[in-house]
Amino acid sequence: MTRIQDITQALEYWAPLNYQESYDNAGLIIGNPEQEVKGVLIALDSTEDVVEEAINVGANVIIAHHPIVFSGLKKINGSNYVERTVIKAIKNDVAIYACHTNLDAIIDGVNAKISDLLGLENRSILKLFHGEDEVGSGMVGDLPKAISEMDFLHLVKKRFSADTLRYTRLLNKPVQKVAVCGGSGSFLLEDAIKSEADVFITSDFKYHQFFDAENKIVVIDIGHYEAEICSQELIYDYLSKKFTTFALRFSKVNTNPINYL
Ligand SMILES: [Zn+2]
Repeated sequence: MTRIQDITQALEYWAPLNYQESYDNAGLIIGNPEQEVKGVLIALDSTEDVVEEAINVGANVIIAHHPIVFSGLKKINGSNYVERTVIKAIKNDVAIYACHTNLDAIIDGVNAKISDLLGLENRSILKLFHGEDEVGSGMVGDLPKAISEMDFLHLVKKRFSADTLRYTRLLNKPVQKVAVCGGSGSFLLEDAIKSEADVFITSDFKYHQFFDAENKIVVIDIGHYEAEICSQELIYDYLSKKFTTFALRFSKVNTNPINYL
């Protein structure tokens, strides 16, 4: 029998909770660690629809990249999607676990998965955490062969199934060194420039932040969902090697709150 705590311990051995950012809320958000695991559903976001899906497929544990609860709940009366998700999960005995910025920070975490999608070699962490030598934010690596900026943009669009890319002025030079950061990566722009990367792939850039590229790097905003949906596979690959006693499934719900036309 596998208990929820067996899964959380395995995940935390890989992506320790102390690597999460101060604003984060990674870990077991809802659920009893002693409970037996009947099935696990892996999702990017644990929304109400994902809880519904878990119930329908007989999974009593959701492992998500994004925590459903960030800053605490003072009232739980169903007035917003966070409260409704929490209520639904508790009522139906569905546990929710989040593996978030701690999974971003480890060397074989989300940014490694993003680097895999691009085939990056000679990888290193873009900004190391204080006192660590292989834990930190973002990643930088080389394409096996330099390609033109336009070819690279098309490659990114395809590999990340992105409908739309937003990017800064092209610099008319080949792309070989690539910096990446899953999620909101604008805080790493300076480090990406310092690393001498030709491009920086991330998401959630705001209008004024695009100016900060200063024609030193091409910033490519691929969308938050598009950048991080690969974390599902990352978690699946890790857990499927460790456990065989329960069904492990990917969520089929598209939780992207953004549509493109
Ligand atoms: Zn994210």
